[in-house]
Formats: sequence, C-alpha cells, structure tokens
Amino acid sequence: MKKNNRFIIETKSLTKKYDGKAVLDNLNLAVAEGEIFGFLGHNGAGKTTTVNILTTLLVPTSGSAEICGFDTVKGSMEVKKSIGYLPENVKFYDNLTASENLEYFAKLSGIKNSKEKVTEVLEFIEFTGIEHKKLGEFSKGMRQRIGIAQAIMHEPKVLFLDEPTSGLDPMGIKKLREVILKLNREKRMTIFMNTHLLSEVAKVCTTIGVLNHGKLVYKETLENMLKRFSDEESLEDIYFTIGE
Ligand code: ATP
Repeated sequence: MKKNNRFIIETKSLTKKYDGKAVLDNLNLAVAEGEIFGFLGHNGAGKTTTVNILTTLLVPTSGSAEICGFDTVKGSMEVKKSIGYLPENVKFYDNLTASENLEYFAKLSGIKNSKEKVTEVLEFIEFTGIEHKKLGEFSKGMRQRIGIAQAIMHEPKVLFLDEPTSGLDPMGIKKLREVILKLNREKRMTIFMNTHLLSEVAKVCTTIGVLNHGKLVYKETLENMLKRFSDEESLEDIYFTIGE
C-alpha cells in the first residue's frame, strides 16, 4: 500500500497513572497511515490502557494522543468518527442473526442506508449465505469477523483490534488474518493490533512496537526486525530479547 509520511496515530509523552503508579510512562508512539501495526507486550505492559486512551475510553494523566490529527480528549467526537474498535470479547445478541445484529447496531449508530451497508460488510467478511444464522451458532472466529464488520460500518480510517486471534482455532486465525489484510489493501485502513503473539504479528503486521512497563522499548518494520534477529532461535526468543 502506498504510504505518505503523515502519522495517523501519535502519542506524545503519554502517561497514565493509577494510584500514583505509572502504567504508561511518557509513551511516544507514531504510526504512519497504511501500516498494520503490531503492539506487543507482556500481560500488564499497558497495551489495553494505550488502546483505551486512543479510542477515547480513557483520559490520560498527562501527555496527549492524536488520531488523524485530532486530540483524543478535546477532539473525541472526531476521533470516534475516525476509528473502529474490536475489543477482545465483543458482545452480540446470540438469539438474533448476523444481519439482525448488524442492522440493530447500524440503526443505533445512525448509519445511513443501513440495510445496504450491512449487506456490503457481510459480503466483505464473506458471510453471504450464512447471514441469517443466529449468532449463537457461530464459532469465536466467525463472531470476531462479525465484530470487524460492525467496527467498519462507518468506514473508519483506523481500526483497533485487541488480541483479535485470542482463543481462535487455526482456521479462525487464518480467516481473520485474511480479513485484516483485505481491509488494509482494499479499504486502505490503518490497523493497530494489540497482541502478545509474535508469531501472529510476523504474518500480518508491517511494523512492530514492543511495550514494556509502559514504555516503548522497540519499534521497527517487520522486515528490519527479522533481519536484526535472524540469528535468534525462534520468534518467541526475539520477543523476550526485546521485551525484557
Ligand atoms: P493484558 O495483555 O493482560 O491485557 P495489557 O498490556 O493490556 O495486559 P493493561 O490492561 O493496560 O495491560 O494494564 C496495565 C497495568 O495497569 C496492569 O498492571 C493493570 O493491573 C493496571 N490497571 C489497568 N487498569 C487499571 C485500573 N482501572 N486501576 C488500577 N490499575 C489498573
């Protein structure tokens, strides 16, 4: 995908403290438009806190975060229009069908031409033909794809995914990866993906950032990262070398 040099996601000295303890510590992070950014870190490193601030759900203690040039606090309405978010455990109505769930959400969100939009996103995630099945009948991987359909209905520029492949079977992971790549290529969407699975990141991301105790300890293109750590025994070793 063609990139320009503008940063679509940018944090400056971003700090979040709980009871005086910094969970994010002067985090400076910049993601260029068109990237698939893999945000890695151990449990508790501060990934979800970062995403919660970037998606306007949390207010920083100090420092700032911008999406498409809009401050996540002062410009939260513009930020909300610019982003889609798939949380780790997306909630749906299990007794409604895939299309009913999406239509309900579309109407609540004030999306114009909701029927057409739902048909379009269902086609995008390759749900045509099974859109009238109840949500309760779908696997976790399929529900994650419906979650993506929901998150992209308003055509955001940036999509945040929190541990998107967590708990999925290999087929679910493969299908989800295909959707992520297609969003990036066909819809030119910038993707920000929280994960602790380096093996997953290596298959889909263009750039990797590693967070450790609320600080960015490494940021590199996937290509350069694999060159730098080519002597390492496995991807997991690379992760521990950077992250510790
Ligand atoms: P995980 O992969 O386990 O979700 P993470 O990297 O996403 O980890 P966060 O969920 O951002 O990490 O949490 C970072 C730290 O902040 C953790 O030590 C967590 O216990 C702490 N924390 C998060 N939310 C709060 C809160 N509301 N009050 C106090 N501490 C919190």
